[in-house]
Amino acid sequence: MKITKVDVMALHSSKEMKETKPGQDADWSNIPWRPVVCRIYTDEGIYGDGEAAMAYGSAAPGAFGMLQELAHMVIGLNPMNTEPIWEKIYKQTFWGQNGGPVFFAALSALDMAMWDIKGKKLNVPLYVLLGGKFRNKLRTYASQLQFGWGETLNPALTPEDYAANAKKAVEEGYDCVKIDFFTFDEQGNTFTEEQRTGLLKPEYVNLVESRVKAVREAIGPNVDIIMENHSFLDAMSAVQIGRRVEKYNIFCYEEPNTPTPKTTKYVADNIKIPIANGERIYTRWQYAPYFEDMSIHMIQPDVGTCGGVTETKKICDMAHAYDIGVQVHTCASPLCTAAALHIEASIPNFVIHEHHVYNLQEFNKNLCIYDYQPENGYYEVPELPGLGNELSEYALTHCDKVTIE
Ligand code: MG
Repeated sequence: MKITKVDVMALHSSKEMKETKPGQDADWSNIPWRPVVCRIYTDEGIYGDGEAAMAYGSAAPGAFGMLQELAHMVIGLNPMNTEPIWEKIYKQTFWGQNGGPVFFAALSALDMAMWDIKGKKLNVPLYVLLGGKFRNKLRTYASQLQFGWGETLNPALTPEDYAANAKKAVEEGYDCVKIDFFTFDEQGNTFTEEQRTGLLKPEYVNLVESRVKAVREAIGPNVDIIMENHSFLDAMSAVQIGRRVEKYNIFCYEEPNTPTPKTTKYVADNIKIPIANGERIYTRWQYAPYFEDMSIHMIQPDVGTCGGVTETKKICDMAHAYDIGVQVHTCASPLCTAAALHIEASIPNFVIHEHHVYNLQEFNKNLCIYDYQPENGYYEVPELPGLGNELSEYALTHCDKVTIE
């Protein structure tokens, strides 16, 4: 089997932008949700889809360009050979070694699409190729409830808003929620960098605590709370906040500050809450120091930015040697959700799956043909060959597309 062409696509999400006609250019400056994906075609008529998971933030145009660049390297190759192809791209591009998220997001998309092809060629779901299922149902948490929970997004401001969002998710069957309690002030403004770093004013620490307390009281003692920080804090402010909320039995403390081995170890040593981190750590080489000093207790590699299915599996297996658990990070189109579920089903050290509130939104759900959703707080892994999902007609006809052949 040979790869004959790769379509690289920057999808035109319908979120807060006018509909685009097929072939019409999107206004990149005005799209807050910009999935970058690829479809790899082969000479056997089998194709596979993958995603460079940079739909949010500022790097989607970079991933779109990088993916075109790397796609040239796989034309004519056999997509069954994911390991040698990964190594070739890593070693022969100069920027792969010690590379950052744009490079590895592009490699992730190609790798994911090739695993999708492998599954279709052998007529098995991806999890079979990864070693088989440990579990049929994956514990799942409702994620980013500061934005609301449901099909519309309403930022939480008062402690009662936070409590109501958490309660709503619990009533749907979730027994774990994740919230960033320090994104919005009480007027709905986003806190500035200066307000969230250094040694904090007591009013901010008190505000965060009042929100955590309201959620804990609303959901009771048997529902887990993951405290998300998006690395908006620094090591000093993260320890202040962490110490204040320890008494509310926080399941884990996510991205307390910019992940570096030294500061992550400092935070881990100074609070009594397990640390979750990894959506901004890429490849096994970048993860290694966090395993060696045991400063992260639940890793969150993103299958769409850390190097794809091939690399995520290796990182998860390395974590297992240190008794460190896994939640594969996902904040992307449903393609990445499917890839994450296959990996999480097939590793022994799975902890929990993330279900981002964006996964409930029409602008994201309509990008793929299947809308898999958890039931009663548990996801099932797709049973179709390969990833078990693929780009929808909407996605394929609402995008900027470059064909490499
Ligand atoms: Mg996060």
